[in-house]
Amino acid sequence: MSCINGNVLEHGVSYQTEGPIEAALTSKRVSKIVELSTSRAIALCCVKLLSDKTAGPISVLDAINAFALPGLQWVKHINKDIKVTSNVAKELQNDICGQNEDVHQMEIVAEDPHVLMHSRKFKFIYIEAIGSAVTYLDAALRSINHEGLLCVTSTDIAILNNKSPDTALRLYGAKFLKSEYWGEMAVRVIAANVLRAAGRWGKGVTIEMCTVTEYSVTVVFHVLRGAKHVEPCLPLVQPLSHCLNCQARAFNEDCSQTLPLNEQTPLCGCGDNNTSALTQLGPMWSGSIFNPTFIQKLLDQAIDFKMSESLTKIFQLLLIDSVCCKSELAENALLKLPETSTSNQDGPPEKKAKSDEESIVIKLDDIQPAPLFYFDFQHHSVKGGNPPKLSAVVERLRKLGHRASKTHFGPRCVRTSASLQQFNDLLKQMWEEISKTT
Ligand SMILES: [Zn+2]
Repeated sequence: MSCINGNVLEHGVSYQTEGPIEAALTSKRVSKIVELSTSRAIALCCVKLLSDKTAGPISVLDAINAFALPGLQWVKHINKDIKVTSNVAKELQNDICGQNEDVHQMEIVAEDPHVLMHSRKFKFIYIEAIGSAVTYLDAALRSINHEGLLCVTSTDIAILNNKSPDTALRLYGAKFLKSEYWGEMAVRVIAANVLRAAGRWGKGVTIEMCTVTEYSVTVVFHVLRGAKHVEPCLPLVQPLSHCLNCQARAFNEDCSQTLPLNEQTPLCGCGDNNTSALTQLGPMWSGSIFNPTFIQKLLDQAIDFKMSESLTKIFQLLLIDSVCCKSELAENALLKLPETSTSNQDGPPEKKAKSDEESIVIKLDDIQPAPLFYFDFQHHSVKGGNPPKLSAVVERLRKLGHRASKTHFGPRCVRTSASLQQFNDLLKQMWEEISKTT
């Protein structure tokens, strides 16, 4: 995405943001919208995947974006039968219709998003909220069809970082904490809210993927209608126990929402009866936040669309994060083969790679969910000396038999099946090794 002299060029679609737009939207809102190109890239790939999977025409909605940018991208890049509805700012309706030829291939409306979604059904809904998306969830979950996809983007990063606990509680009904894993916590709390909204309309959800950037949090949900899809989801919303002293964190396996902290299984070794450092966060989604099969398809699609290197890199990181391999060989096999077996699109895709020694087959459908909550080096650093390299830490964790991978959540973040204690011990050891050699 580039913005030159007020002309936004993104994923092959251009839009002039000067002129009438200045009268309609504040420059702050314009710049916020421009920052969300990753989210729109995900939405574009999702619409393509959904249209490929569905036999007939599908109705897709861009519920909020004021310039109709997402809708223009869908129309331009997806040649299949899709019926695009773009909900735009009222003041810009005429301007948008005059700017771009592709606009005639879609329906442009300027309505209250809640009214629009409560009155019509869509197979795909994209919500790009400037602020929190939670206020739109009730309408979106009512509107979305069985087996539809809901792509939700929120930009209230300060609130998700617990800058205003009261506002967070009011909006999300949850307790946040500014911590090393704030991004994953944000995804999980948003998911808990989506799950509650879905349940009210007799629908269940699973998470297909999520991304967190410095500007936004985006989560894609697969929505299924019917009580049998709701019930398995409900126990997945749980409080998270967190130790303020050592940063240990865990969901309560017995779902003991009502059990006092001092009666729960000890979380860490910070003193047997010392519960003062323990706090409860959330409630939040405790299930998987990635579907590796979906992410692999998304990555293949991004490559097909010739998306930028930085976007492809994010999707690659998401893929290795979602699988969290035990060896470098397996990770390479995962990344180096973008070709999916096309003979059986509904079956589990098989990735094959031949190394000198062996051939690795990764069946994404059989992968155990990635370990919960990543660690950030900065929060576990030993004083003095230079920190070890991220790739070296990942390698050492794997040598010790743990699953480990980089993650898109941060440049110094690691996802691993190792415990907090094991992670800290290894970091300390590596730190000492480095200081000895320098
Ligand atoms: Zn502790």
